Amino acid sequence: MSRATTEQPSGDTLEADVVVVGAGPAGSSAAWTLARSGIDVAVLDKAEFPREKVCGDGLTPRGVKALGDLGVDTSGWVRHRGLRVHGGGQVVEVDWPRLSHWPAYSLVRRRSDLDATLAAHAAAAGARLHTGVTVTDPLLDDAGRVSGVRAVAGPDSRPVTWRARLVVSAEGLSGRLAKSLGLVRREDRPLGVAVRRYVRTPRTADDYLDISFDLSTEGPTAASMPGYGWIFGMGDGTANVGFGLLDTRRSSGEDPRGTLRRWLTTLPADWQLTEENAVTPLRGAGLPMALHRQPAYSRGLLLAGDAAGAVNPLNGEGISYAMETGRMAAETAADALDRREGLAREAVLRRYPARLRTEYGHHHRLGIGLLALLRNPAIVRFATAHGLQRPALVSAALRLMGNLTDGRDGDAVDRAMSVLTRLIPAV
Ligand SMILES: Cc1cc2nc3c(=O)[nH]c(=O)nc-3n(C[C@H](O)[C@H](O)[C@H](O)COP(=O)(O)OP(=O)(O)OC[C@H]3O[C@@H](n4cnc5c(N)ncnc54)[C@H](O)[C@@H]3O)c2cc1C
Repeated sequence: MSRATTEQPSGDTLEADVVVVGAGPAGSSAAWTLARSGIDVAVLDKAEFPREKVCGDGLTPRGVKALGDLGVDTSGWVRHRGLRVHGGGQVVEVDWPRLSHWPAYSLVRRRSDLDATLAAHAAAAGARLHTGVTVTDPLLDDAGRVSGVRAVAGPDSRPVTWRARLVVSAEGLSGRLAKSLGLVRREDRPLGVAVRRYVRTPRTADDYLDISFDLSTEGPTAASMPGYGWIFGMGDGTANVGFGLLDTRRSSGEDPRGTLRRWLTTLPADWQLTEENAVTPLRGAGLPMALHRQPAYSRGLLLAGDAAGAVNPLNGEGISYAMETGRMAAETAADALDRREGLAREAVLRRYPARLRTEYGHHHRLGIGLLALLRNPAIVRFATAHGLQRPALVSAALRLMGNLTDGRDGDAVDRAMSVLTRLIPAV
């Protein structure tokens, strides 16, 4: 596997046309796109690659497409043909839809490998990758516009200043740069939380990814929990096993770690998903959803991926959206840098939040609405008990949740989804 190369900054002040903060999927996609446009781009990450990222490691067909668009070679990666959905005591296997815009398979890849591959891919395209560099603050000019970043680099935390014409924040959930410009999280958007660990299990190689809505049997609110458990076979003797709660405002109050542990005890003994077979600690992180930090452009700073809150509120998927928004931020930056400095450039940059809203706003509105419905335990019980008896309905629901459609060019399900999402105003 290719590995990210490391270039240590020398001297106290360095320059690039664009500085990208964070070399996760959002940052590496942004850096790759900028480098391919011939723009001098530096991508800074506090970690050394490969590094762990707490994640389910699942790349839906949307994620597979985003990797293909970047030209990443995924041959040999573990593939799945669909989902095995558990709910209301029933189990149904649903293949990924056959669509013209999206591949009909998903992939799993440990994030330590995926992110190192993406960072190396960006570096190979010409991006200057600097690892072990922790960005601390935006650098502001006299007009209060972002003109670079301040950072500390290396084991001795040497102060470094990076000057840039534009900065892309792809630093994940923390959104430190955005916060320092006053771009705080919108409280009216859902925030999820997810936990996961790797467990040694015979269910490591499977054509289907398991997801379960049968998480709880206890308490009056338990059945209405808007979330699911997953078992993603990694093909290496282990599975990535986790639980994601899609909206912490609508939780039963139980710690997600407790939910996961309890759910695992309800699974068949021969799956061996026991505490003793765990090979990593149980770790968790937040899922920032529905573009919760706005505007996604302000004063020379563009937000992408989790920093912009790009996770899909209907399924908790964030890798594909990180790659997509990373590319869109980079395309916007490249277009802007082509214009004369001043109003013309600023006008291009200010269109970036509207582009994200056009792309995702309708789907996010739908997601927020459906999450609100899941507050009602009767609806959840009815949907799992009756819905899973109809595989075609499950398939349509998964397409909707996964935002996988050919739009108006597609079949009847696609056309219905297109009408539904267009009828709903964007958020
Ligand atoms: C338990 C869990 C399971 C999940 N499962 C899935 C899944 O199966 N499929 C899916 O699609 N999504 C999943 N997600 C969501 C997904 O992990 C994120 O949406 C995705 O990682 C976002 O990518 P990103 O590039 O925006 O940010 P990140 O992947 O978080 O990358 C941010 C990068 O910025 C660097 N950084 C941070 N701060 C600084 C700083 N100050 N200076 C320099 N560098 C900095 C970090 O080191 C990191 O490399 C899951 C999330 C969780 C918590």
